[in-house]
Amino acid sequence: MQFGANQKLKFNAQIGSYSLVTDREYFDSQITATDSEAELLINFFGKENLHVGNVASNKEKAGKAFRLYPDGQEINLNLVFPKPNKTELRLYLSQRAGFKPEAHSVWFMFVRDNALWIGGMTEAQWRDENVIVVYDETENVFQDSLDELDVIKINKLQAKDVFSRDRNLALQRIEIEKYKCEYNPSHNLFNSRHTNLPYLEAHHLIPMALQKIIPKKLDTIENIFSLCPYCHRAIHHADKDLTKDIIKRLVDKRPDVLDIMDITATDVLSFYSVEDIY
Ligand SMILES: [Zn+2]
Ligand SMILES: [Zn+2]
Repeated sequence: MQFGANQKLKFNAQIGSYSLVTDREYFDSQITATDSEAELLINFFGKENLHVGNVASNKEKAGKAFRLYPDGQEINLNLVFPKPNKTELRLYLSQRAGFKPEAHSVWFMFVRDNALWIGGMTEAQWRDENVIVVYDETENVFQDSLDELDVIKINKLQAKDVFSRDRNLALQRIEIEKYKCEYNPSHNLFNSRHTNLPYLEAHHLIPMALQKIIPKKLDTIENIFSLCPYCHRAIHHADKDLTKDIIKRLVDKRPDVLDIMDITATDVLSFYSVEDIY
């Protein structure tokens, strides 16, 4: 699978790919590159520089330099087209050379500063490291501001809101949704003591933290979703299945968001680190 915007941001990478190590790959100590992996490897090394045939027939040409994530030490792994028709590109894993990820772990490659990095980690660690949606202090202040009187909120937002979310857009979205949860309009709501209206929160489906690398504006009415406090906490903290379900329903409700931002539904799942990895 190709790196999405969140992985590029995390690894400071121009391009990258990741997938699970299968039992077979682990057992055989070799990985046949998938389409996106092969593309990355061929683009990086140049097709003419890749050896055709078995490793033993040209050890020098078969050996390729990688940087091992996270420390960056240089390691040498064999990479060849075993067959003359060059349809299959094979990477050899080796404990001795320094790279032999466990079966069912995530292995990944990415290009940073003209070097090809390679690494492996458990799936749980990968998901943990690549989640871009955090419920942080900034978001807290923002949510509170939606439920406060205008005078109070302006000072607080100016002091805290680093991603400058527009409070009025969020309030507009909640109004358009007629004060209902967009995941499930029948969700129970309490009334706010400040506004005397049903209490709702505003969530940016494409996380504001990606504004650094996504060229389109993320603080837009299309990207803001009105969620009840339960669903809002869930989209940030719930297990994979529920998080996925909420995201899918929101995307289905306003698919325009993806077109406008030029990203796929899988990208969105990956921002929340709940995508299927294969
Ligand atoms: Zn949120
Ligand atoms: Zn809800």
